[in-house]
Amino acid sequence: MLTRGGTVVIGAGHAGFAAATALRDTGVDGPVTLLDVHCGLPYQRPPLSKAYLLGKADRARVAFRPAAYYERREITLRTGQPAVAIDRSARTVRLRSGETVGYDTLVLATGARPRPLPVPGHDLGGVLVLRTLPDADALRARLETARRPVVIGGGFIGLEFAAVAAAGGTPVTIVEAAQRILSRSVSAHTAAQLEKAHHGWGNTVRTGTGVQRIIGGHDGHAIGVRLADGTDITADLVVVGVGAVPETALAESAGLAVDDGIVTDRYLRTSDPSVFAIGDCARIAERNGSRTRRRESVQNATDQARTVARTIGGAPAAYTASPWFWSDQHQLKLQIAGDLTGYDEAVTAPGEGAFSTYCFRHGQLVAVESVNRPTDHVAARKLLERTDVSLSQRAVGPGFALADFLKFR
Ligand SMILES: Cc1cc2nc3c(=O)[nH]c(=O)nc-3n(C[C@H](O)[C@H](O)[C@H](O)COP(=O)(O)OP(=O)(O)OC[C@H]3O[C@@H](n4cnc5c(N)ncnc54)[C@H](O)[C@@H]3O)c2cc1C
Repeated sequence: MLTRGGTVVIGAGHAGFAAATALRDTGVDGPVTLLDVHCGLPYQRPPLSKAYLLGKADRARVAFRPAAYYERREITLRTGQPAVAIDRSARTVRLRSGETVGYDTLVLATGARPRPLPVPGHDLGGVLVLRTLPDADALRARLETARRPVVIGGGFIGLEFAAVAAAGGTPVTIVEAAQRILSRSVSAHTAAQLEKAHHGWGNTVRTGTGVQRIIGGHDGHAIGVRLADGTDITADLVVVGVGAVPETALAESAGLAVDDGIVTDRYLRTSDPSVFAIGDCARIAERNGSRTRRRESVQNATDQARTVARTIGGAPAAYTASPWFWSDQHQLKLQIAGDLTGYDEAVTAPGEGAFSTYCFRHGQLVAVESVNRPTDHVAARKLLERTDVSLSQRAVGPGFALADFLKFR
């Protein structure tokens, strides 16, 4: 059977769901088909390491929308339907069922999967990752009985898991190969404050040490982790959070350009003009064309989806949105506005149980990290969009509030 035409979106995560919605919002009235490997309603991922893991949100709460939404917006939702091949000359997508779906425009929103940990023992029982709803269900169940969890990787997902476990009375050991946690994502000051907070919650953070192997017991279940220096740590649950790799196999086998992500121009067009790529799987050309970037965040997925919907709707737009991100860890809400890559100076404005760190590159503000200071974050997003106001490092210090600084500017 061949279904014809319109826009087919492969992947119903943040990017795919937002693309289908934005196509309808922009008035595109042709058929929109949204496909996903997973059965059930498309869902949000951030709660999986936060409220859902804590047991404070159920499946209905993490779903983007109820089933009726897709009907009302005339989005044909087909979950449990992996796309297995793309025929670009025929403009068709083949599903695992053998069915073929035709498209005028194809949007690849295939996301990313957990980076495998290449050490012996990675496949033992009790070694888990956190990317999907079934992963979160498995972790939630294990957390009920685990006494000695070990997290491998001091990134956001590992730290959020550790914060949830500690909040439930189960302290965690976090092992990070780099000299500090979040080494690619936040400034040294903010990382140090978060590490201190984890210690305060009872977690142990061991930085500057890799993992040699995961040790198995007689029953094939993980019982410990051997560090690179030969130290053994007891573990009855091992959570691996060492990053994600973009899901590019489908694009690659269709002959599209791939380089640690599906390569796109600034309009998110792949090497085939009728195929777009958005979200975690996309590597987009930067403004000046000399660099490319792949980001993993809800903001990136959602804003790229809206950009592509505008282009498909006949008003082509280059992707220019400023990045922002958040992470909840126990009582701490970290919010990041901007991109701190290559920052050379960071100045902190401390406050009561809260702070913001302002990151500068060559004297120009490039990012603001706020912990429990949401008004700074909102103001930072506004400031980073403006070209007529600049903030000097000298202005930042105790008592500095960005919203006040912006009030009359
Ligand atoms: C536990 C967790 C917590 C997070 N917390 C935050 C946070 O606090 N803040 C933040 O900004 N970001 C957070 N992120 C990152 C954010 O969720 C991702 O950046 C976002 O989900 C990317 O959206 P996406 O649609 O590109 O990819 P995904 O959400 O991964 O969706 C991709 C979808 O494509 C489907 N798919 C793949 N291949 C096929 C195929 N061949 N056929 C059909 N379907 C296919 C997959 O099944 C998947 O559902 C978190 C991520 C995780 C996993």
